[in-house]
Amino acid sequence: MKDLIDKSESYIFPTYTRLPIVLTRGEGMKVWDSEGKDYLDFVSGIAVLNVGHRHPRVVEAITQQSKLLMHVSNLYYSEPQITLAELLVTHSFADKVFFCNSGAEANEAAIKLARKVFKDKGESNRYHIITMENSFHGRTMATLSATAQKKFHHGFDPLLDGFSYVPFNNAQAVQETLTADTCAVMVEPIQGEGGVNCPSPDYLKDLRTICDEYGLILIFDEVQVGMGRTGTLFAHQHYGAEPDIMTLAKALAGGMPIGAMLANKKCAPSFSPSTHASTFGGNLLSTAAGVATIEALLNENILDNCQKMGKYFYAKLCSLKDKHPVIKKVKGKGLLLGVEIGCEGNAIVRECMRRGILINCTMGNILRFIPPLIIKEKEVDSLIKTLDELFTQKQSSPS
Ligand code: PLP
Repeated sequence: MKDLIDKSESYIFPTYTRLPIVLTRGEGMKVWDSEGKDYLDFVSGIAVLNVGHRHPRVVEAITQQSKLLMHVSNLYYSEPQITLAELLVTHSFADKVFFCNSGAEANEAAIKLARKVFKDKGESNRYHIITMENSFHGRTMATLSATAQKKFHHGFDPLLDGFSYVPFNNAQAVQETLTADTCAVMVEPIQGEGGVNCPSPDYLKDLRTICDEYGLILIFDEVQVGMGRTGTLFAHQHYGAEPDIMTLAKALAGGMPIGAMLANKKCAPSFSPSTHASTFGGNLLSTAAGVATIEALLNENILDNCQKMGKYFYAKLCSLKDKHPVIKKVKGKGLLLGVEIGCEGNAIVRECMRRGILINCTMGNILRFIPPLIIKEKEVDSLIKTLDELFTQKQSSPS
């Protein structure tokens, strides 16, 4: 393990702060490191393995597809891509899908489409997009500009022109900020990286009303919260508001790289031939895995399990909060859950890892739990027991 880690430090840009384990195998809720130690995975590749590690349907789909054809250019048609697009359109508000390779690329496509809709109408000045404080939309220049968190901007100025930021969960702030140049409002239905922030019940509906009134495009970034993470296929389905454009990535293909930008009839025609493209977008292995993933989500009771286990997990975290004053708040929906703690989170993450449980920390003090949606009560109980022990130790040890 140490040799590999040393080599990694030599050859790979140190852009990630990595924990010192090399993961080599996974199955369902578990992963193993190169020394054979197993871990319960409450990170899931950051909301990627919603159907669990190496779901049999996904493995079978990739295996079969790899025996036939792994990649063709988008100059030609390919069946898995068409089937995945049909499934996405059938199960969402959307009429058309554009495939790419990541969440950032999906959001790039959304930003470009929103701008293009107004260019096509001859309203060239309307390219400004309102996004939310503490949002996260990706690391490319346009999505970085859309991301309203200064810490990610540092060193990359000048950002792309045309983004204004308002507080999350405040529809009035959007109304007060929009101008004659605004073309779109872009929002994560629940903020993930920004600290697991859920909106009030009417927020998305209010944004929909504002967008309708002022002729703006409403973009939902469901890269982290889509594909069943909150117990419905898409998170916005909890809130009774539909977007004009939605982006997906992460869990869409059960562990294979993919991104997708979905749009309704109002926006879709502006992506006409040659307006946007991606060499690997809609790659056959990824889209075959995507079809298998959606079939698993829809046919294996996974969404129900997510809702049930989400409630169970939330209640257990609340009991932990009652016992440990260091826990300030429990938040989240379905199986995107967080606890805000009154101390730095990384030491807890490391100690959990040492005890065989992988968790994540965002914003410095929000422990984030994003397990596979197939999780069982006993696996939640293991985490709760470990956290209970750690917080008890913390309380009794002098800081
Ligand atoms: N949008 C949201 C809401 C995300 O959480 C992320 C990644 O965490 C992204 C976009 C960027 O996705 P990717 O890392 O696949 O580019």
